[in-house]
Amino acid sequence: MSSRKSVKPRLVDHRHCRVCGKAIPPKEEFCSPECRGKFEEARERERKARRMLYIFYGLIMASLLIFLLLRAFTG
Ligand SMILES: [Zn+2]
Repeated sequence: MSSRKSVKPRLVDHRHCRVCGKAIPPKEEFCSPECRGKFEEARERERKARRMLYIFYGLIMASLLIFLLLRAFTG
C-alpha cells in the first residue's frame, strides 16, 4: 500500500457564504447582513412549515382515532 502525499496549494483560509457562496473570512458565516437575513428567513419558514406538518399529522391521527373509535362503538 502506498501513501502518496498530496501537496495541495494551501489557499488562504476562508469559508463560503451559506446563502450565496461568496468567499468570506473563516470567522464569518455570511458575506453580508442581507445574506444573514435571508438565511434566518428561510430557517424560520422551514420551522413554520415543519410545525404545520406536525399539526397536519396530529389532525390525521386524531381523525383516524375518532374514526376507529366510532367504528368500534357502532360496530
Ligand atoms: Zn452572501
